[in-house]
Amino acid sequence: MEEELFLENSYETSCETFIEEINENKVILNQTVFYPTGGGQPFDTGILKQGIDEFKVIKVKREQDKIVHYLEDATNLSVGEVTAQINWDRRYRFMRCHTLLHVIAGHLYNKFGALATSSEIYEDNRARIDIQFEEGIPETYFSSMEQEIHKIVEENHMISTRSLPRKEVEKIPGSIKTVINLLPKSIQTIRLVDISELDEQACGGTHVKSTNEIGAFSFTKIKNKGKNTKRIEMILND
Ligand SMILES: [Zn+2]
Repeated sequence: MEEELFLENSYETSCETFIEEINENKVILNQTVFYPTGGGQPFDTGILKQGIDEFKVIKVKREQDKIVHYLEDATNLSVGEVTAQINWDRRYRFMRCHTLLHVIAGHLYNKFGALATSSEIYEDNRARIDIQFEEGIPETYFSSMEQEIHKIVEENHMISTRSLPRKEVEKIPGSIKTVINLLPKSIQTIRLVDISELDEQACGGTHVKSTNEIGAFSFTKIKNKGKNTKRIEMILND
């Protein structure tokens, strides 16, 4: 499998790498900074540079354990060295949104034992998360929730990652509340994302370093989504 540099350092915007395979407009690299769609986070876009030529990366997907970079046009690209560079503005907004979703899920788990059932980040600064609550949470709580989340974000919690054997992770309460159940049994090492004093969660996405980097956001809608489930919709405001 190619090396996935975004797991080590989500702030790395480019890397020197080597093309292993070109198949029509699809390219496989031996290491990459490009995040493929997954876990509710959209793919990165950007360019591959070879000599004086630039090739637009328009989509990135994980296919059979490989990260496949779809180019707008791979004519004139040849197997060999290349510089991979992501569109940082786009990625950073996804990192902010993604981290915000962790904060919301972590807080509501701590407060109510609520579980995130799914989440999605969109390309236009919006995101949503579905949270399953036990019965008995007053509706009035939801009107104060945005203020509570803002307060936590402003407390500036640090975010870090570590990888542990699956058996160890399964012993940590709360860490397996969503993602791990979807991971195939064959995956024996799990990456955990820790937001200090708030949450630790299995996740393979990209995150900011501290919650104040999430910046300005607001909740746009909180609505019922089936029995005991709320959908919280939000937007980054800059
Ligand atoms: Zn994550």
